[in-house]
Amino acid sequence: MSRFWSTLVNKLTPYVPGEQPKLTSLVKLNTNENPYAPSPKVLQAMQAELADTLRLYPDPNGDHLKATIAKYHGVDKSQVFLGNGSDEVLAHAFAALLQHDAPLLFPDISYSFYPVYCGLFGVDYRQVPLDAEFAICVEDYDQHCGAIIFPNPNAPTAKLLPLAAVESLLQRHPEQVVLVDEAYIDFGGESAIGLVDHYPNLLVVQTLSKSRSLAGLRVGFAIGHADLIEALERVKNSFNSYPLDKVALAGAAASFGDEAYFQEKCQVIIATREQLSSQMRDLGFEVLPSAANFIFARHPQHDAAQLAAALRKHSIIVRHFKQDRIEQFLRISIGTDAECKLLVDALHKLL
Ligand code: PMP
Repeated sequence: MSRFWSTLVNKLTPYVPGEQPKLTSLVKLNTNENPYAPSPKVLQAMQAELADTLRLYPDPNGDHLKATIAKYHGVDKSQVFLGNGSDEVLAHAFAALLQHDAPLLFPDISYSFYPVYCGLFGVDYRQVPLDAEFAICVEDYDQHCGAIIFPNPNAPTAKLLPLAAVESLLQRHPEQVVLVDEAYIDFGGESAIGLVDHYPNLLVVQTLSKSRSLAGLRVGFAIGHADLIEALERVKNSFNSYPLDKVALAGAAASFGDEAYFQEKCQVIIATREQLSSQMRDLGFEVLPSAANFIFARHPQHDAAQLAAALRKHSIIVRHFKQDRIEQFLRISIGTDAECKLLVDALHKLL
């Protein structure tokens, strides 16, 4: 590493995203993308935008998209923050927590980007172990802290923290920001967005990457009290005041205008998930109850790393984490029924 940069940069351990191989002949179940195309209305809106005025800068405030999201979720436009994927929204939130005098808490098995952001922004943090059932235990967060963040459902475990428990966490920490990362909430969970008007310390982050099939477009957003949002706008405007390009703004807004398509695809994925979970259990896997578009499973007699490698030879990619406590698990994204059948057929041959 170059001696010309700071020692902090030289010490960073960057996030390593899941592989993105060419899709030809591969069953790609490793990065929790949606197996279905986005709504045709999204593509129409983006084409219209392309044909219109790309020579102009986008709206730096993304007002139309903010208003669309605000209306959809029943909040005010001043309560919505936009980002280039929810990863960027999270990055701005972590930057806003910089120089807090108490540590940020998050589960010890969780989204692996959190410690990366802490490293980058110099945020002090402490990881709180999940319980024996891989669940987040609200009482374990009763400790001195500057803020709390967790995905709900959690990743990569897929387990949901019930809304009542989220609310209890908010009540126990009225002086701290509680950030709920709801990347997977549309696959069976109940969003905490309904609580934002009661808890000024709540920030809910969502993405269009999963349930709205728009991972490639990079659109995420946060909803919270207007004061929390205003702080994020300040951080964002210290980097770049254009969070989203014109095509992304148009496509994202159109996605909220096709509720029937959105609901239908979420229901299909949930049904496929339940079928795959039961087929994997029949094969002897322990599958954690999932409220996400992926499952987390281990086989008592088969090594997870070896299984992942063997599946790869069948052109099926799943995710394996070399991390304490979960190294015998595989995280498998829910594909189409046909893709999941290929997975189950391959497992039948391998076990
Ligand atoms: N949060 C969690 C828990 C995730 O798993 C992901 C996807 N890797 C993200 C946030 C970020 O998603 P995106 O940047 O595509 O919105």
